[in-house]
Amino acid sequence: MSTTRTCQVLVVGGGPGGYPAAIRASQLGLDTVIVDKHGLGGACLNRGCIPSKAFIHAASRYEDMVRHAEKDEMGLKVAQPTLDIAGVVSWKDDIVSRLTKGVGQLLQSAKVEVLAGWAVFRNAKTCVVKTEAGETIKITAEHVILATGSREIELPFMPFGGDVIGSTQALGLTELPGKLVVVGGGYIGLELGIALRKMGSDVAVVEATDSILPGYDKELIRPVEMWLRKNKVELNTGCKAKGVIRVDDQTVLEFEDIKGKIHRIESDKVLVAVGRKPVTEGWGLENMGLDMDGPFVKINHQCRTAMRGVYAIGDLTGEPLLAHKAAKQGELVAEIIAGHRRAYNPVSVATVCFTEPELVGVGLTPAEARAKGEAVMTGKFPLAASGRALTMGGGMDGGFVRVTARQSDHVILGIHAVGKHISELSGEFAMALEMGATLEDIAGVIHVHPTLTEGFAESALTALGHPIHISA
Ligand code: NAD
Repeated sequence: MSTTRTCQVLVVGGGPGGYPAAIRASQLGLDTVIVDKHGLGGACLNRGCIPSKAFIHAASRYEDMVRHAEKDEMGLKVAQPTLDIAGVVSWKDDIVSRLTKGVGQLLQSAKVEVLAGWAVFRNAKTCVVKTEAGETIKITAEHVILATGSREIELPFMPFGGDVIGSTQALGLTELPGKLVVVGGGYIGLELGIALRKMGSDVAVVEATDSILPGYDKELIRPVEMWLRKNKVELNTGCKAKGVIRVDDQTVLEFEDIKGKIHRIESDKVLVAVGRKPVTEGWGLENMGLDMDGPFVKINHQCRTAMRGVYAIGDLTGEPLLAHKAAKQGELVAEIIAGHRRAYNPVSVATVCFTEPELVGVGLTPAEARAKGEAVMTGKFPLAASGRALTMGGGMDGGFVRVTARQSDHVILGIHAVGKHISELSGEFAMALEMGATLEDIAGVIHVHPTLTEGFAESALTALGHPIHISA
């Protein structure tokens, strides 16, 4: 059956950018349609952020139990635990299913029309959607919001398949690999590599640059490196994966070190996590007359593309490839379409890496600030001096909160932290930066005792030269 439909707003992609855009547009009284073939919630909810965090949490629980079985710690001793990885995957799937259903209900109660299907644009404002139900619907929209997201990059010489897996397959493993090699020591490689190490796999990492987590500074990465070393994760930095071969019925990854020497490493699974790329193919982008910025769709400060009435948000539009950035752009674009004066101009987008320990970064590091010509002052508070960190079994992992402020007026330019559970401070850090807080503002706020947030206030006091809980 073939039908036509007109609407005020058409959102393509139901991920963390698209569905908030559709909800907000509908809240503002705009007749809104959202199209997604691969399930509401996008990669974030179905194959990324949420499933990986469930996996990471289960892995940490298991690791704790193993430790308590091996030795009496905190006065707690348990019998030897067992891991049922299929059970973990099923628990994770339940969470995903609950959340994706929740997104569907939110869209329904906001009166957004949801089409499960694939949209292909014929021109900038008209697309044809083939729905799962076999219907063909031609949609013409006044405004289009493109939120097609990103997908994992495959290495052409070792595509996914067999023992070579991507993060999607890693999150669906029904058997724990005895030995895992991770290609790419970035966000995904380390988050999942660490989780699988906690579950009991032997893990090795092959990373092309000279450090894991390129983008974070050395001081911040050190506690993660310490954990990896302590837990016997083999780190091969400055090494490029070259391909997989079979030797005596065993999968072997070949990689080249910085001197050009080829090494081989046996593995049951090879997890490739070498980045993500925007989804720009298969939906008629070439028929829309948009400008590109490298592999991404080019947008301005209001997420407008080169075509009037066509907006693009999220991973499709470039770094950082983060769900919370996409969500904010989605809300903002809906408001712009409804006639509000809005612009996407955050001071910073916070990044969190759910490694062990966790990393948080907001704004400029001291080196980045100096490179911009700023004279800076910094304050670093070790979490070993935080009562709350110690009572949660953290603090002794080298964790800290570090604040960077402008020397002249004490305005905070960046906040970086590493430590167990530290990701929960990312909101306070982002708010401080977004609101233009000074060191005195943060030091002057009564932070709840005992919480990790006190570490932020203490880092500000340290920068000002009069910390209470460490010697100045
Ligand atoms: P990434 O860019 O974080 O890391 C990829 C790594 O692979 C880099 O360190 C790179 O040097 C390395 N690499 C590339 N080619 C290689 C080769 N041939 N051999 C060895 N190493 C190689 O990418 P990712 O971890 O795949 O994550 C993708 C995106 O998803 C990131 O941009 C990130 O923003 C997002 N993400 C965010 C979170 C989070 O916010 N917690 C978690 C996961 C993913």
